[in-house]
Amino acid sequence: MAMIIDGREISLLVKNEIKEKVEELKKRGKEITLAVIQVGDNPASTVYVRNKKKACEYTGIRSLSYELPEETSEEELLALVEQLNERPDVNGILVQLPLPPLMDEDAVIRAISPLKDVDGFHPQNVGNLCIGQPGFVSCTPLGVIELLKRSGVSIAGKKCVVLGRSNIVGKPMALLLLRENATVTVAHSKTENLKEVTQEADILVVAVGRPGMVTGEYVKEGAVVIDVGINRDENNKLCGDVDFDTVEPICGAITPVPGGVGPMTIAMLLHNCLESVEREKYEVS
Ligand code: NDP
Repeated sequence: MAMIIDGREISLLVKNEIKEKVEELKKRGKEITLAVIQVGDNPASTVYVRNKKKACEYTGIRSLSYELPEETSEEELLALVEQLNERPDVNGILVQLPLPPLMDEDAVIRAISPLKDVDGFHPQNVGNLCIGQPGFVSCTPLGVIELLKRSGVSIAGKKCVVLGRSNIVGKPMALLLLRENATVTVAHSKTENLKEVTQEADILVVAVGRPGMVTGEYVKEGAVVIDVGINRDENNKLCGDVDFDTVEPICGAITPVPGGVGPMTIAMLLHNCLESVEREKYEVS
């Protein structure tokens, strides 16, 4: 039977470690502040933002909330970001995506100071990851690495296949696995003989956004399978990109959905907020 990698339990461990560090910093007179901006009232975004604020509260990180109406102009949003960039008491800035259709998401991401970009989406941080320099890393792939390490899965030298090549999950995931000395293949919708490619993986990370697409036929016996997907099935129930029922009997370890990668994403956001203080120190000295 496969080991079930419990993201809820591991994320709680991470959050408790962060809480202790935040308390230590407070004793030394340093408070960490995350500014969270939401434009419009997309219901999924509202839930994500609420969970992020709750997690901040749990760990003692102060959160500032900016809930802007749907009709906010891009200029107004950019002006707010600029103002938060300048504020010395704000360590991290998070603009919840997606933004309303008429806004240029890339322009908004680029406007966030790379030193406060706790989502790790700014091109400067992506570039730093690419060339092995310090910088913020996208929270979901960072959470996957943390899950693997804390579950005792060794990464170095392993064949890893990342299924999906988005800027926020697939690509940074591949770079992080490479940084951990894995041999990495990135597969996507144009990959030929996909099942043969994924069957090579010792560690298979799936981020395609297609409910239950990866069935047992895609998986090598004993592989570690990480399911990043968060989808709704035909009964509106949360489900991943991996078909748990056919994959679990074959693989060595697997993350469930919900309760796998999802909780780690928020834990790593808090981790990045803590990092922002460390980074500030380097900038000052
Ligand atoms: P995107 O839609 O941006 O990217 C999907 C990727 O999957 C693309 O690279 C696409 O290939 C590839 N793909 C799509 N269909 C196929 C197919 N049939 N065969 C092979 N490859 C395919 O999605 P995201 O990366 O943003 O998200 C992926 C999933 O992860 C979603 O379910 C999302 O909800 C979830 N997610 C979960 C998070 C968490 O906290 N756990 C955070 C972020 C996302 P191509 O590039 O060729 O089009």
